[in-house]
Amino acid sequence: MDFFSCLVLLTERVVSDVIAKARRVAVQIINVEKEGLNATIGFDENQILLNAETADSVEGPLRATAIAVKDNIATLEYRTTCGSKILQSYQSPYEATVVERVKRAGGFVACKTNMDEFGMGSSTEHSAFGPCRNPVNNARVPGGSSGGSAALVAVGAVDAGLGSETGGSVRQPAAFCGVVGFKPTYGRISRFGLVAFGSSLDQVGVLARSTTMVRSLASVISGPDVRDSTCKKMAPIAKTTERKDLTGLTIGLPTEYFSQDIDSAVRRACDQASARLKDLGAQIRDVSLPHTEFAVATYYVIAPAEASANLARFDGVRYGTRGDARGNGLEDMYHATRAHGFGPEVRRRIMVGTYVLSSGYYDTYYKKAQVARGLIARDFENVFSSGVDLLFTPTTPSVAFELGARLQNPVHMYREDRCVCAANLAGVPAVSVPIGRNDGLPIGGQFMGRLDADDLILDAASLLEQSVDGHAEV
Ligand code: GLN
Repeated sequence: MDFFSCLVLLTERVVSDVIAKARRVAVQIINVEKEGLNATIGFDENQILLNAETADSVEGPLRATAIAVKDNIATLEYRTTCGSKILQSYQSPYEATVVERVKRAGGFVACKTNMDEFGMGSSTEHSAFGPCRNPVNNARVPGGSSGGSAALVAVGAVDAGLGSETGGSVRQPAAFCGVVGFKPTYGRISRFGLVAFGSSLDQVGVLARSTTMVRSLASVISGPDVRDSTCKKMAPIAKTTERKDLTGLTIGLPTEYFSQDIDSAVRRACDQASARLKDLGAQIRDVSLPHTEFAVATYYVIAPAEASANLARFDGVRYGTRGDARGNGLEDMYHATRAHGFGPEVRRRIMVGTYVLSSGYYDTYYKKAQVARGLIARDFENVFSSGVDLLFTPTTPSVAFELGARLQNPVHMYREDRCVCAANLAGVPAVSVPIGRNDGLPIGGQFMGRLDADDLILDAASLLEQSVDGHAEV
């Protein structure tokens, strides 16, 4: 044991639970970062202790709970970089509603976490601060774009993580790292202070090692917010459940999610999980969501289109870094700022987004994608009005892939999202829960529910979680 760790143990007896916890968390983060996890951006051990001191005076349901916050969620104490060079020194003048609510409930922010630049990616390799690694096997990716939050939760350095979802960025890294990842119904959690990527898709999501912890955090941060007009005026997500089994519920297995080149180990784990769901009293039924095959193509038209508009604000005038145009005027300044500030994947999305929105191509791509989105959403409505309460699917087609394996061909990376992005297009709630392992690498199973059935999918996730053993061993 090193000197700092000894000191932490010795002083734990004389300080409060919150301060002691923050010290332990700091040591753990320092250790995992030293080993090369690269899960944090700008970690500051003094700041975590200051945050804990402030939290010490607050009694609430999240007392002594350490939360890692994805770096596209605005905080006052830390920079908010979005994993991008263009915002590498950006300091937000306000904090996100979700962060404010964590603090009000007695929790404290442990650190900001690494992510694919502006949330664009499925591996946390598209970060200006270098790739994050999977803590279960550090030759593998942790998934993305909320890979830093997933990795830190998986190693047990923090109690829970905040992430964001535009097309699976909480559930997919949760599956790859062996933790629970929850994306609420569109509008159940405030987005005030979440840097926009695709506004009709974006949601704040929660990661933790158990569904119980996910619920504790989700119940605190959900509910109406006057500062976000897209936030529903609904009661917060329930903190606990009375449900003891799944009797009376029908769970649909959409054939399309099992037929698309899903790895055999993932399929096996899903079969075992559906047997457990049956043991828990659920009726299992094969169902069809016929437009699933169009989800990835639809998502990769709509998300870049919205991103190209949202990212127009990063022009070197209002936020972050300004490029050097050598006195050649405004347009050159824009060019210098954006060409050097954005990484290659973000530039690709802006190009695709601008293209599909341009007058000659709008009808061919953007309008068609909107029609396909409607059909995908209708599939969910149809299945949920046919007596099905929940859907169960794999979260990812395979276990975590190796670093670099999907970087050469962007479409290979995009195809990683084929089990997750339809939920964002339809706005329905979804949660990934660990259901097994293959060669030690975690496998995630996903529940999706009808709009606003957030509590029900979390009930099912916690019951399944208790009857399978899939959590990461790190
Ligand atoms: N992988 C998807 C993308 O690159 C989803 C990202 C997200 O949910 N933020 O767009």
